[in-house]
Amino acid sequence: MISRFAKSFVAIVVALLLLSTVTFLHPPSRSYIDPWSGEQSLHSGKAHANPPIHGTDGGVIMSKLGNATAKAELGRATWKLLHTMTLRYPEKPTPDEREALSSYFYLFSRLYPCGECAAEFQMLLKKHPPQTASRLSASLWLCALHNIVNERLHKLEFDCAHLDETYDCGCGDEPVGAKSPTPDPMDLGRDGDEVGMMRGGK
Ligand SMILES: Cc1cc2nc3c(=O)[nH]c(=O)nc-3n(C[C@H](O)[C@H](O)[C@H](O)COP(=O)(O)OP(=O)(O)OC[C@H]3O[C@@H](n4cnc5c(N)ncnc54)[C@H](O)[C@@H]3O)c2cc1C
Repeated sequence: MISRFAKSFVAIVVALLLLSTVTFLHPPSRSYIDPWSGEQSLHSGKAHANPPIHGTDGGVIMSKLGNATAKAELGRATWKLLHTMTLRYPEKPTPDEREALSSYFYLFSRLYPCGECAAEFQMLLKKHPPQTASRLSASLWLCALHNIVNERLHKLEFDCAHLDETYDCGCGDEPVGAKSPTPDPMDLGRDGDEVGMMRGGK
């Protein structure tokens, strides 16, 4: 004779088995609010394929920026954004994240509001394509690129060993180059974790 306790136990186990089977076969739908349109839709939980990125390889879109003061202000603000972005980039990005960063820079090189700066930047990208393998390689690559622009504009070279303190966002991230040796970040064959600290920007 099965006790009442054993019957209840068996019933609970069967119920749990049924529940987990149903959950497995039908992953829960989430309601999703589009931040731009405010529309609500159901999201199945399945990943969507990335749309192809168009427009990354065309020419410069904007015209010449005549006002020197505006050009300098725009430049300072933009460098701040770009350096902060590469310094907040993941240590171990996914292939999708790497593609996003690379595409961002190619689109940026078309759309930067100073047309003549954008044209120069496009030439730089041809010679030194975006390094996206890690936070370290991306931030050192950008620092080196900025130094090439500095040199052309007869500005002082920036010591890329000081990236973290200059662009400290209070995020508590590990300093760039904390553990790595110092290979040349412009060595494009080395788009990998082994890209290390660059001193003096060259
Ligand atoms: C993509 C791009 C292309 C440009 N091309 C031109 C151009 O062709 N002609 C033109 O006249 N202007 C150009 N500019 C603007 C120019 O680079 C400067 O931003 C502007 O002249 C103001 O210079 P700045 O001396 O205030 O310092 P910025 O060069 O704007 O730098 C701002 C701050 O960033 C830090 N910094 C300097 N070098 C580095 C580095 N290598 N890595 C990290 N941080 C650094 C320093 O703290 C510096 O004070 C360009 C800007 C951008 C973003």
